[in-house]
Amino acid sequence: MIKAVRGTRDLLPPDTALWNFVERKVREVFARYNYQEIRTPVFESTELFARGVGEETDIVSKEMFTWEDKARAASEKTQTLTLRPENTAGVVRAYIEHELGRSGLLQKLYYIGPQFRRERPQKGRYRQFYQIGAEVIGPQSAGSELPIRDAEVLDMLTALLNAVGLKGWTLFLNSVGCPNCRPSYNQALREALEGIKDQMCGDCQRRAETNPLRVLDCKAPADQPFIEKLPKIADYLDEPCRKHFAEVRAMLDALEVPYEVNERMVRGLDYYTRTTFEFTHGELGSQSAVLGGGRYDGLSEQLGGPKAPGIGFAIGEDRLVLALQAQQTEALAPLKAFVIPLGAGMNRHALKLAKELRAAGVAVDVSDESFRLKKSFETAEKLGATYAILVGENEVQASAFAVKNLKSGEQTTVAGEELQEYLKR
Ligand code: AMP
Repeated sequence: MIKAVRGTRDLLPPDTALWNFVERKVREVFARYNYQEIRTPVFESTELFARGVGEETDIVSKEMFTWEDKARAASEKTQTLTLRPENTAGVVRAYIEHELGRSGLLQKLYYIGPQFRRERPQKGRYRQFYQIGAEVIGPQSAGSELPIRDAEVLDMLTALLNAVGLKGWTLFLNSVGCPNCRPSYNQALREALEGIKDQMCGDCQRRAETNPLRVLDCKAPADQPFIEKLPKIADYLDEPCRKHFAEVRAMLDALEVPYEVNERMVRGLDYYTRTTFEFTHGELGSQSAVLGGGRYDGLSEQLGGPKAPGIGFAIGEDRLVLALQAQQTEALAPLKAFVIPLGAGMNRHALKLAKELRAAGVAVDVSDESFRLKKSFETAEKLGATYAILVGENEVQASAFAVKNLKSGEQTTVAGEELQEYLKR
């Protein structure tokens, strides 16, 4: 038997109903905040991620699906390509390539799609997973750098989580400073790590040299006491970064968006500046981050584009769905009615009734006349239908149907023309 590759999975019904529900809510809520959809390719040149995400990150150094794409004609060059491990770099590349900043307006873009990372698979962590993300990016003159953008993004995220009915999330917030103040913090970290790094895990020993900020998100239990005592980034922010962060927090307070400042949250991608954030959920165990994001004021320039500050996030859709499933949400878009043709010649009448109900927006399914009544009722219940509608010769002649409520067991007769209203009640 050929099976799905480790770390990939099939999404099957009825779970897909929940995925579609989430995506529907995303489109509704994001539209209310004036976001529009962008779709970028699933693979890009490797260099985009090396430059955008950062060579020193786990993603680029060990998790990318990369291959040599051989030239097929004299006019082509052999190139190194990568399945996208995240979508911000692709969106910013598209922003630069299509000169989206030329309008002078903020670009508010969102995407929904698969991402690929060669991580060790476990519950909530896959090699193909889905992200729902958004980016607000534009020239400085459009206000792309201002704290109001950060607050609006976080407000939209809480609106979305409320709209899908997720309960019990926590928003962690931090500022990781900017290229002006981060070097002095990195230096302070390096110095603090000098004396203790030999007692820490191998990864931390390496990171202490290459990218000391990354030490802060080490999960090794034995390292935690050391990390607790490291210098705090808040003490190293320069005045503009400090002020920016204070304004973001003040606006969140005004919007009554609850958050906790977590100074250790530096996130796994190198492009972040100033505001970073993560929403976690208790039901998810070790992979508790439902979504993460932050500001990336220098990313466009890093990719060879114009100055275009921005802020964005990516929701792990797999994890959002897992968290919602753990909450036992009500069945989604359940089947309203099962239409049951009774006896020979009734199939077409049943199909016609189903067609009318479907045209009126009612979800119905149809049995067939070879089913005995008992089997039809059993099937209707297995399908989760609320009603069973019987279509026999008498019903067709009288244009009135026996309608059984399968939840309560009650049965009534409903006139054909009143059926839609009755089912929609
Ligand atoms: P990142 O792009 O690393 O900031 O991740 C953003 C969000 O994507 C995380 O908070 C997770 O919810 C989700 N995510 C990241 N990696 C994976 C993965 N391998 N499997 C499932 N979800 C993931």
